Amino acid sequence: MCGIFGAYSQSGKPVLEDVYLGLYALQHRGQLSAGIAWINNGSVSIKNGTGLVHEALNQNELATIDTNAAIGHVRYATAGGTSSENCQPLSANYAQGPVAIAHNGNLTNFHGLASYLENRGAIFHTSADTETILQLMAHQPNTVQLEALENALVKLRGAYSLVVLIEGSLIAARDPWGFRPLVIGQKDDTIYISSESCALDLLGAKLIRDVAPGEVLIIDKRGIISQTLPSAEAHRKRHCSFEYVYFARPDSVIDGHSVYNARKNLGALLDKGDIPQDAIVAGMPDSGTLAALGLAQKTKMPIESGVVRNRYIGRTFIQPTQRVRDAGVKIKLNPQPGIFQDKEAVIVDDSLVRGTTAGRIVSMIRESGAKKVHMRIASPPVCFPCYYGIDTPTSDELAAAQMDRQTLCKSIGADSLTYLTCDELAEAIGLPREELCMACFDGSYLENEEYENLLEV
Ligand code: AMP
Ligand code: SF4
Repeated sequence: MCGIFGAYSQSGKPVLEDVYLGLYALQHRGQLSAGIAWINNGSVSIKNGTGLVHEALNQNELATIDTNAAIGHVRYATAGGTSSENCQPLSANYAQGPVAIAHNGNLTNFHGLASYLENRGAIFHTSADTETILQLMAHQPNTVQLEALENALVKLRGAYSLVVLIEGSLIAARDPWGFRPLVIGQKDDTIYISSESCALDLLGAKLIRDVAPGEVLIIDKRGIISQTLPSAEAHRKRHCSFEYVYFARPDSVIDGHSVYNARKNLGALLDKGDIPQDAIVAGMPDSGTLAALGLAQKTKMPIESGVVRNRYIGRTFIQPTQRVRDAGVKIKLNPQPGIFQDKEAVIVDDSLVRGTTAGRIVSMIRESGAKKVHMRIASPPVCFPCYYGIDTPTSDELAAAQMDRQTLCKSIGADSLTYLTCDELAEAIGLPREELCMACFDGSYLENEEYENLLEV
C-alpha cells in the first residue's frame, strides 16, 4: 500500500510540520516506517525511522527546520522486504543534482529494468523497485532532471503514484492507469499532494482535484504546471477497486467518489432477500462496519455493535504461551454477551482473503448462542494475487481460489455465505467497471500489448 505526501509553499513558509501531519493522517496506509525528505543548498536531507509516524519522526525537531518544499512516505512492505535500507523517501545526488522520491505502488517490469541497468553498470543500494526510477534518471547525465524523470516514467509498467523533489520544484506523477490514488490540495499559497484527501482535511486544505492518470505536475514558484505522459492516452484507466473496499480511509474521496458511500452501497447490495428480517446484523470491527450499516439501513434489519475489538492488539506483544493460544482470536475480538442468544446473526466483513478471520468469527458467534450464522462479504471473492502494490497471498493461500462457495461456507462453519459480483462492486463505487482494476477478483491483469519493449533509454 504505502502513503505519500508532498508540500510546497510559494511564499517560502516552512512545510515540514505539514508533511508530518499529512503522514499522520495516512498512517493506515503503512506502519512499517516513515520518512521525510527536503532539499537545501544542493543536497538532500532525510529523516526517517521504523514504526509509526510518531515513533519514526520527531515533530518538534521538524517544526524548527526552515524549508518550503518537502515530501514524505509511510511504508507497508510489498516489493523490497522489510529492512530499514528500504525506508523511503529514497534520494540520490548525480550529475544533474539532487533528487528525492517517494512511491506508492509496485512496478511490474522492475526486474527487467533492473537487469538492463545493472548490465550498464548500475549498482543498486536497495531492493526497492522505486530505486529503478532514480537509476534511470542517473543514466541520463546530460538531460535536465524533469525531462530525465519523464523519460524514466514512460519506461515503467505497473502502479506508481509519486512525489519527487528536485531543486526548486515538487513534482507529482500518477501512472497512466491511475492504479493508486493521488490528490492535489491547497491552503493559502501552499500546494499539497497526498495519497488520500483525508490528509488535506487535517491540514485545513481544500481538495482541488485528483492527479489524472498519466499526469505529471510541476509545482514551483510559477504555480502548478500540468503535463501528460506521451503514453497516457494508449491505456485504459484501472483505479484500484480494493481501495474502496478496504484500504483507503472512509473519509477520503478517490477519483471523485466517496469511500464512505461506496462501503455503505456495498453493504446495501448484500441484500438478496435471503435472510429473516429479525436477524441481527453486525459488522466486523472496523473493516465491515460501514457495509453492515448499509445492509441494515437498506433492509431495516436491527444492527448491533455485536463484536468488540481490542484496538491495541497490533502494537502489543503477547507471549505465545499455551494459555494465549487457547484464548486465540478472543485476544483480538469478543462478541458482545447476550446479543446473539437464540437469534440468527448476519456477520458482515469487507473481504475474505485466507478465510481465517471469517472461520474464527463464525465459531465465536455460534458459541455466544446464535441459532444460525450467515456470513456476508461486501466484495467479490479474492481469487488472484495483486501485482500493483498490495500485499496479497499467492493463489494457493486464497480461500476462494481453492474452494467453491459451498465448500468455503462449510469450511468456515457458516450456515450461509454470499459475496458480491464485480459488476455490483463497480455499481457501489459509481465508476464504470472498465475504469476499475479488479484483477484480484477477476484475474484481468495489464494486457501483453501494454508491455511493449521499453528498455531503450
Ligand atoms: P483473512 O483472514 O485472510 O480472510 O483476512 C480477511 C480480513 O483481512 C478482512 O477482514 C479484511 O479486512 C482484511 N484484509 C483484506 N485484504 C488485506 C490485505 N491485503 N492486508 C491486510 N488485511 C487485509
Ligand atoms: Fe487493487 Fe486488486 Fe487491482 Fe491490486 S489487483 S490494484 S488490490 S483491484
